[in-house]
Amino acid sequence: MTHSYDLIIVGGGPIGLACAIEAQKKNLNYLIIEKGAIVNSIFNYPLYMTFFSTAERLEIGNIPFNCLAPKPGRQEALEYYRNIHRYFNFNMNLFENVNQVQKLENSLFKVITDKSIYEAKNVIIATGFYDIPIEMNVKGEELPKVRHYYKEAHEYAFRDVLVVGANNSSVDAALECWRKGANVTMVIRKTEINNRVKYWVKPDIENRIAEESIKAYFESNITEIRENEVEIETPEGKITIKNDFVLALTGYKPDLSFLEKMGIDLSDDELKIPTYNAETMETNVEGLFLAGVVCGGMQTHKWFIENSRIHANMIMDYITLK
Ligand SMILES: Cc1cc2nc3c(=O)[nH]c(=O)nc-3n(C[C@H](O)[C@H](O)[C@H](O)COP(=O)(O)OP(=O)(O)OC[C@H]3O[C@@H](n4cnc5c(N)ncnc54)[C@H](O)[C@@H]3O)c2cc1C
Repeated sequence: MTHSYDLIIVGGGPIGLACAIEAQKKNLNYLIIEKGAIVNSIFNYPLYMTFFSTAERLEIGNIPFNCLAPKPGRQEALEYYRNIHRYFNFNMNLFENVNQVQKLENSLFKVITDKSIYEAKNVIIATGFYDIPIEMNVKGEELPKVRHYYKEAHEYAFRDVLVVGANNSSVDAALECWRKGANVTMVIRKTEINNRVKYWVKPDIENRIAEESIKAYFESNITEIRENEVEIETPEGKITIKNDFVLALTGYKPDLSFLEKMGIDLSDDELKIPTYNAETMETNVEGLFLAGVVCGGMQTHKWFIENSRIHANMIMDYITLK
C-alpha cells in the first residue's frame, strides 16, 4: 500500500528540519526523506570548520544553540541538530534517496525513492547544493590525487599541495594544511582573496601569502594535472610545479536536473535560478515548494541557514491557508 502524506520534505538538512518543525506545529501529516545521515551536508564538512554565523543564527524551532566559542564548529552543529531531532522526534527516513517526484492527474505527488513509493499533497525540496562539485574541466582532474572535498590536513603534511580557489573552503584548507607542514601553493582566478572569506581569517591568509609561506598565483588557472606535477597558466606565462595533491575547492552546485525533471522552470541565464513565488516559496508546479540554499540555483551564496530558516514558516502558513 502507498503511504499518503499532507507533506513530504526531501532533504534532512537544517532547513528541511525547520520545515518539519513548522509542519508539526500545524499538525500536518509529514515525512522527511533524507538520502544520508541527519544534516548530511554538515556531516561532510571539513572536520574542524568554523561557521561564519554565530550559534543563535543557526537555531531552528526557537531551540537555543549553546556555544562557548564566538562561532560554533561542525561538531557542535551536529550535536545541536541531533538534539533538535531528540526534542521534536521527527517522522524521518534516513539513508533513503528520492529519485523522482511526479505530479499525478489527481493533483497529488508521487514520490519515488530507492526504497519505496509515497503520495503527498505537497512536497518541499530542501536538497541544498553540497552534493555536486563544480569541476575545473582540465586534463588530469580524474586522478585520485585530485579532491573536491577537504576533510582534514594530516594526509597532506610534508607534501606538495595545490589549493584551487580563494573562497572560505579554499582558504581554510590552505591554512590548515600549511600549519600541519604541507608545502601549499594556491591558484586563484581573480586578483585577490574573495571578500566573502570570514573576516577573522582573511588577514591570516593575506599575511601568509605576503610573507610567501604560502605561494599564491593570482589571475591564474590550472591547465593540466599530472601524476607528480601540475601546469599553471599565470600572467607571466605557463609554469610547471611539483605536486602530490590538488584540492580543487571550486564550489558546489544544486542538482538542477532533479528540479527540471519535476517540472520546475529554471532561468535561461547561467545562474539557473528556479522559478518560485518569493512570498510562498511555491514553484511553478502547484503544491511543489523550495526551501533553503537550493532556491539560489547556481547563486549558491545567496541563501544560507541564517536567511533561509524563514522559508519554513512561509511555506507552512501558505499550505495551511490553502
Ligand atoms: C563549509 C560550509 C560552511 C558554511 N557555513 C555557514 C554558516 O556559517 N552559516 C550559514 O548560515 N550557512 C553556512 N553554510 C551554508 C549552509 O550550511 C548551508 O547553506 C546549509 O547546510 C543549507 O541547509 P539546507 O537544509 O538548505 O541544505 P543542506 O544542509 O545541504 O541539506 C540538504 C540535504 O538534502 C539531502 N538530499 C539531497 N538530495 C537528496 C535526495 N535526492 N533525496 C534525499 N535527500 C537528499 C542531502 O543529503 C542533505 O542532507 C556553509 C556551507 C558550507 C559548505
